[in-house]
Amino acid sequence: MYTTITEGKAKVIVSEGKISKKLPVFYNPVMKFNRDISVLLLSCINKKNMQIALPLSGTGIRGIRLIKELKKAKIKSISFNDFNEKAFKSIKKNLALNKISSKIKVFNQDANLFLLNSSGFDYIDIDPFGSPNHFLNNSIMRLARDGILAVTATDTAALTGTYTKACKRKYWAKPLRNELMHEIGLRILIRKIQLIGTQFDKALTPIFSYSKDHYFRVFLRCEKGKKKVDEVIKQHGMYENAGPIWLGKLWDKKLVSLMEKSNELEENKKILKIIKEESKIDEVGFYDITKLAKKYKLKVLPKKSDLINKLKKKKFRVSETHFRENSLRSNINEKEIIKLIKK
Ligand code: SAH
Repeated sequence: MYTTITEGKAKVIVSEGKISKKLPVFYNPVMKFNRDISVLLLSCINKKNMQIALPLSGTGIRGIRLIKELKKAKIKSISFNDFNEKAFKSIKKNLALNKISSKIKVFNQDANLFLLNSSGFDYIDIDPFGSPNHFLNNSIMRLARDGILAVTATDTAALTGTYTKACKRKYWAKPLRNELMHEIGLRILIRKIQLIGTQFDKALTPIFSYSKDHYFRVFLRCEKGKKKVDEVIKQHGMYENAGPIWLGKLWDKKLVSLMEKSNELEENKKILKIIKEESKIDEVGFYDITKLAKKYKLKVLPKKSDLINKLKKKKFRVSETHFRENSLRSNINEKEIIKLIKK
């Protein structure tokens, strides 16, 4: 029924069985990367003495990793919460298993009550099944003025246009259903989170975002003030027929650079390198080479590496994108890239 696993520096007891919501206590090994990035980002961010909240803790693995893998001075306290009693008990057991007894509090409440009853946090990690919507109001309300909010969304079918109406209802925007759907979906999610922030005069700016497997993830930095909020709203707009979306930057490129440099996990090197390169290019969308070739009836499919070299020679900015295979992010326009390919 139960087994002990190791992830990073944490040991946790998890339920055995098919990964689904129905597990007595939810642990998904596929989300290791999601947790790796949380640890990495907090280790790279210039913040100490953080008060951390994990309103949807599951087994507690994320918080246990933060305690064991971050420098001591980073953390003032971690509050674990889960409304499932089995999860609540498993957090306690796992904390004991890892010999952690200081700087922690464990709650067994609805996430929203837990947040409202608190006095606020510097880092809040919303990691639910499905949409994060239910938890946005209260986590943003309880986010410190220069705090960081991390959000996972696994309801990508709505955000990427399988269910257009669901996207409108839940995210107040029209999704796109083509090669750009993941980037546009992530930008729709970001705008939605930001709109909740605007109600509280909190400007939320993405510092690290990505799409992977079946989920989207974004980290946003909070700043207080009407002017800042107005600047955020200014960067909302349509992309072709889709949106409104966040048209601004998806990454703080200095932070990404530092994260890429600090990362020691072999399995995460490739994606971090790609994200580092694409974070330097301030453009919405990218070119899918296969799709370009089809659209322009090219006889030979251009090779990605050749095309990158060609663009660089012509002094365009260009990189791969983590959003899609065989695709390029660049500041070149479509006409020019076709001209260059044909040459
Ligand atoms: N963050 C965990 C995974 C959490 S899965 C990790 O990194 O491994 C989502 C968890 O949220 C489940 O344990 C579920 O019991 C809990 N949950 C769902 N809705 C909740 C709510 N309204 N209040 C509190 N916990 C909730």
